[in-house]
Amino acid sequence: MNLITLCKMTDNATFPTPEHDHSICIRKAISVAEQLCLTRGVQLTPIRHKILELIWNSHKAVKAYDLLDQIRPVNDAAKPSTVYRALDFLLEQGLIHRVESLNAFVGCHCSDTQHDQLLLICTACNTVEERSAPLVLGALAGELGEAGFISQRKTIEIHGLCKSCHATSNTLEENATQ
Ligand SMILES: [Zn+2]
Ligand SMILES: [Zn+2]
Ligand SMILES: [Zn+2]
Repeated sequence: MNLITLCKMTDNATFPTPEHDHSICIRKAISVAEQLCLTRGVQLTPIRHKILELIWNSHKAVKAYDLLDQIRPVNDAAKPSTVYRALDFLLEQGLIHRVESLNAFVGCHCSDTQHDQLLLICTACNTVEERSAPLVLGALAGELGEAGFISQRKTIEIHGLCKSCHATSNTLEENATQ
């Protein structure tokens, strides 16, 4: 049984379809973030808030310099260090995840708990789906335990084609052979 088959057995996330109402995702993420910061007594400053909003513009992974380009029109004093400091804060609070293989960032939809994750990264549309994949991560924890290895963080990143890009490429192929 491969990783992907294992994940499908856990009903932990739905891949964001292109048609879904993304404004609901944004509203939810921002309100969870505001609530969490309030509970933890940490400041979601305007710049941190703005960066979080920009990251949540879509489910695609965003690079730090793209965030800088987007923030300059609203805050022309913003420097790379401003963006990096805001990103560090959001990472620390678990509101976003770093996609190591792309050196980019994506919003976390389950940020009220600390967690390891499986990230499915679409190489065609850049969409990232986060799955909690308890079975996979549980098996991995067992493996690490056997090796006597203490992991700092566990993120599994898998590159491939998401459901909608896969469907589109199939349609294109079918049309090409007709
Ligand atoms: Zn969405
Ligand atoms: Zn997460
Ligand atoms: Zn895709």
